Amino acid sequence: MQIDTESDPLSATHPSTEKQKNLAALLVRELKDMGVGDARVDEYGYVYARIPSNTSKQVPAICFCAHMDTAPDCSGKNVKPLVHKNYDGGNIVLPDDPSQVISPAEHPYLAQKKGEDIITASGTTLLGADDKAGVAIIMDMARFLVDHPDFAHGPVRILFTPDEEIGRGVDKLDLGKLEADFGYTLDAGELGSFEDETFSADAVTITFHGVSAHPGYAKDKLVNAIKVAAAFIDSLPRDELSPESTEGRYGFVHPVHMEGIPEKLTLKYIIRDFVTAKLAGYEEYLRSRLEDTLKKFPGSRADFVVSEQYRNMKEILDLHPDVSEYALEAIRRAGIPVKRSSARGGTDGSRLSFLGLPCPNIFTGEMAFHGKHEYVSIQDMQKSVETTVYLLQVWEERS
Ligand SMILES: [Zn+2]
Repeated sequence: MQIDTESDPLSATHPSTEKQKNLAALLVRELKDMGVGDARVDEYGYVYARIPSNTSKQVPAICFCAHMDTAPDCSGKNVKPLVHKNYDGGNIVLPDDPSQVISPAEHPYLAQKKGEDIITASGTTLLGADDKAGVAIIMDMARFLVDHPDFAHGPVRILFTPDEEIGRGVDKLDLGKLEADFGYTLDAGELGSFEDETFSADAVTITFHGVSAHPGYAKDKLVNAIKVAAAFIDSLPRDELSPESTEGRYGFVHPVHMEGIPEKLTLKYIIRDFVTAKLAGYEEYLRSRLEDTLKKFPGSRADFVVSEQYRNMKEILDLHPDVSEYALEAIRRAGIPVKRSSARGGTDGSRLSFLGLPCPNIFTGEMAFHGKHEYVSIQDMQKSVETTVYLLQVWEERS
């Protein structure tokens, strides 16, 4: 937690911040010290490690993946992790800024953690449990495998990535180097939660063209692209089809950026749904509203460009039902009720799945991430370690 690994969306380098390699180097050293000989960090800051199979069976190579960087939304410098042993169920006041209080009233999940050991930051930074909880869980799993040579398992791959939080976590990943058949990211929240579904995502860029004229002499000449865009945005509903009015399985269209002058204006939308086929419907809807708007502004015109961003990993995971089924069995073996959920966003797993490494997401206990109230239960992390070990057991048994 104390190693600053904040990523930087404005940087063009890989990794985006050189300091992420400090954690990568430490992890490689610790893996080697514990007896995982085949561990290395590459020039882009990716950590690759492998633990060979110790069974005579042919078992697919399973990769466990977590990201090392922390979100740029909140400082990751001088993080002071605190352990609140045997949590009493009340408010947790963070000592370096007592106005920062983690309360069970605001965090209902925390209320269920009474009697457990809770890790928090000290009030001025994020904690970085997202996703250093995942990193720690995978390291502990590796330790278990090394310490228990009689525990039968197939080939195990370990992958720690930089820059997940800025959407570049797999940009420089070498799947050839990894040589894994299936993967699991350790980056979901509540105990027992399992995500095998993400949004499918497109972006739409609309460029409005107006007709410019000197405003003093513009009568019957000027067509202001800013007013055309405003009318278009206003023609779309706010009480439905918007992030602020949807949850669960519902998708949305969402304006995220607007920039321009009366002559020309660019407006960007993101389009989201779990059902990929519905994206085209939303785009058609936008297009028809746009045409209606343009009719009200004679002389104006617009370009409409759709680009693909990422796709629901379930499309790939449905082709390999064992990957999710075995994970659910492992969670049950760890004695935990399964909470199946869908990520209303993308994960590295969605990109990995489409690159050829089917990769759902398993719980770590990390909660309230990207802020000063971030926390994680040590007992949740231990259950996650058990789940990864059972998962290897299930793969070996069923192969
Ligand atoms: Zn994360």
